[in-house]
Amino acid sequence: MKEPRNTICFFCSLGCGLTVNRGEDRVYYQPIATNELEYQLDNPINRGSLCGKCNYLFELLHHPKRIPGPRILKSSGYRDVHWENVTTDIIEQIAALVEKNGAESVGIMLSPYLTIEETEQAIDLAQIIGTPHIDYCALEDEPILAKIRQGAFFQKRLPSIEEIDGMHTSFIVGDVFGVSPVLSRHFLKAKYDQRANKMVVLESSNSNTGWFADLHLRANPGTEVMVLTGILILLLEQIGKQQAIPWKAAVKHVLDSIEIEDICKLTGVSLDQIQSAAGLMMREKPSIVTLVSGFGVYDRADLVTELCQALSDATDSYFLPVFTGANSLGMHEAIANFKPAAGMTASQMIEAAEKGSLKVLLNFGVDIIRTFPGTRATNAIKKLDFLLSTSIFPNDTTGFSHVILPAAPWVEKTGTTINMLGNSLKLDAVLSPPGHIKTTGGILSILIDALHQKGFDKKQIEPPEAAAQETEEDIANHFIEIKDLIKDNSAVESNQKMLVPNNDFSHSGDGAITQYLSWSQRMCPEPIAMIAEGENGVHISGMVRISSSENKITIPVKVSRRAEKGMIIAPVHFPQIRSLLQWEMLPQWGYLNIKPAKVSVEFL
Ligand code: SF4
Repeated sequence: MKEPRNTICFFCSLGCGLTVNRGEDRVYYQPIATNELEYQLDNPINRGSLCGKCNYLFELLHHPKRIPGPRILKSSGYRDVHWENVTTDIIEQIAALVEKNGAESVGIMLSPYLTIEETEQAIDLAQIIGTPHIDYCALEDEPILAKIRQGAFFQKRLPSIEEIDGMHTSFIVGDVFGVSPVLSRHFLKAKYDQRANKMVVLESSNSNTGWFADLHLRANPGTEVMVLTGILILLLEQIGKQQAIPWKAAVKHVLDSIEIEDICKLTGVSLDQIQSAAGLMMREKPSIVTLVSGFGVYDRADLVTELCQALSDATDSYFLPVFTGANSLGMHEAIANFKPAAGMTASQMIEAAEKGSLKVLLNFGVDIIRTFPGTRATNAIKKLDFLLSTSIFPNDTTGFSHVILPAAPWVEKTGTTINMLGNSLKLDAVLSPPGHIKTTGGILSILIDALHQKGFDKKQIEPPEAAAQETEEDIANHFIEIKDLIKDNSAVESNQKMLVPNNDFSHSGDGAITQYLSWSQRMCPEPIAMIAEGENGVHISGMVRISSSENKITIPVKVSRRAEKGMIIAPVHFPQIRSLLQWEMLPQWGYLNIKPAKVSVEFL
């Protein structure tokens, strides 16, 4: 007798629906099909479609590499231990370190794949310990979400999925088809629904999305801010004559001092193309501006977000940010509502660990070494007095952890998430976690109870200041920052190229979980760089040594139509590629500006 369970895919922030006809028993570590996947043809989000990786979700249930139980680091190496013992040990260590260094020496880092309920439990844990340092770790989503929360523009209307199907003009920044083939079906439906419907894409490479564009603005890598500024200048000239735009006066003097010809020269996008994009945005409604989050894709993702919002506001369009982390939107809101100004971001916690002021890191599901750019995170976590990591599979970070706790994947979780469209969706566990494995919520409950028993109680933590709507002066200041970015920083030497990271849809986020799926391994098993034909004498394939200011790696390279002259494209869910990207902190935000890197290349 099969029992149907409706749940959602939690590999990305779209939240496609699926049904699992649950078998009666579980054969752990055995890929025996006691469960059957049923496609929800009437689900409005995905209409039965699922990405390849989600079709392989049962492998998460049975994977032989899953961490089976708690492990603790002793002088002789890792030892498997019972929950009771490990809990006592953890609490003793946390209590002693809090006593010695203060509660503020403790940080809590969360994977963006936790449910809202788990996030709230983690906030409880922060309050019980008395630390303000708690953050989710989706580095590519954070600047976008922080900018949206800053509220420079009132109008940031999220479309419903049905509304996307009916857009006359879709303006897409980034490679949405590469990130989410399921979401791209909706954009294709809109494009082919009526003959005059158009799709404009701003993306530096010949991406999957760019191939379908009516107008592809193939800007030089990292110059998206400049192209968007050019479009906005032309739009405001046209629209401003017909309707009042409240913030136009505040930004006019800055925009008036920018020469469109300079933008064209620096971005490689012609004036004709910028004019066409502006013209298409002013056509018949409805229209949408979509910004696809990407690791290392944009220079100043926060300002790219600001400009996308300004474009959508000026043209009365919808605005849809496409997040990488499955629950980035929900977790960002929950944490921002709790965290006082003194609370560090995930990146600041790594810097504090490096300096030695953060001593304890309670890490719920982040493969820190794999996630951060460059190599600093590896050195930072080695300096911690105590690192606890929960994980589904062993990874580079668990290898440096003092305690490793076995966490359940999303197919074994029940809870709530907020998808990119702002919908509250329910995860329903297909099966409960086997053996000694627990959900992150279960692990948090155990830790919270044990801390209570040890005499810890919730502390009063100063609440965050209420987010104030930005003034026109604030917007004007952001545009001054935007203007400062419009300068020639593209000078590359003859043996240099721009490293353009790409997100391959066979993996999710940093690939820490999807790397274990056989489909993802088959589709994208190793990092292979792509260059344009005829570049440096490499015609078909070979090996390339790539050196940046951060690291040096040698990987295979092949010729691909995706790459333009002067760029080298590489899949960013591999830690080798991330290690080439620069660590550039934006102090006013506490977030990293992870942008395309200038790299030296040597073909071997
Ligand atoms: S990864 Fe995203 S787009 Fe793909 S099936 Fe899952 S939720 Fe849908």
